[in-house]
Amino acid sequence: MRLKLVAGNWKMHGSLAGNQALLTALVSQLEELNGMRCAVCVPFPYLAQAQASLTGTKLAWGAQNLSQYDKGAFTGEVSASMLLEFGCSYVIVGHSERRALFGETDAVVAVKFAAALAAGITPILCVGETLEERDAGRAESVIARQLDAVIAGSGMVGLAKSVIAYEPVWAIGTGKTASPEQAQAVHAFIRRKLATLDADIAAALIIQYGGSVKAANAAELFSQPDIDGGLIGGASLQVDEFMAICQAAQG
Ligand code: PEP
Repeated sequence: MRLKLVAGNWKMHGSLAGNQALLTALVSQLEELNGMRCAVCVPFPYLAQAQASLTGTKLAWGAQNLSQYDKGAFTGEVSASMLLEFGCSYVIVGHSERRALFGETDAVVAVKFAAALAAGITPILCVGETLEERDAGRAESVIARQLDAVIAGSGMVGLAKSVIAYEPVWAIGTGKTASPEQAQAVHAFIRRKLATLDADIAAALIIQYGGSVKAANAAELFSQPDIDGGLIGGASLQVDEFMAICQAAQG
């Protein structure tokens, strides 16, 4: 059985004081929950705070990006081994905002994915189509291309150590959620596609849904057979919303 994973993506939000209040509340409320896993992916400067506040708790933490390089003259970059020093269990790779706003190509995403794996950090690989691509009937081919780039670099054995997040770009931060049926159809496509390469790995892989998940729609989304939790943006900054989403993921 796949244990659902709910991961918060704080994006570029936070402050030391605000984070502390959020983390303290999440840690105490998560004590009551069972049969699911939960993580928060915070901006780089707050990793030390996450490590200090969350070590030994049920709440894991991670980053939202990493460098494709190990070390060297790469001003402004943060390597996988640096993330490891701050106890990161997860790192988001290939978020659509990084692909669209920072020019990350499939090839760069594949190298970042491999760098995370090499450091022993679980990559949360984001895939998903834009509205234009969906309307043109290209959603599946776009997602297949995004997955194939990573599989070419790390193989199915590498993919087995990751989490996939299906995030339709048109649903991220827009308030427009994919319907449970729309999301399930794509999740099933991803699992079917991966099963042609390795059925056991495909069956065990966590595939999260992301895109305007909130307390009001989480339970229905998570009840779909191939949806194994969520990657949560805006709602992960509000204790009550995020905890209700976590509750919906309990097994
Ligand atoms: C995200 O940033 O990955 C995301 C899904 O955002 P939101 O939940 O705000 O749509």
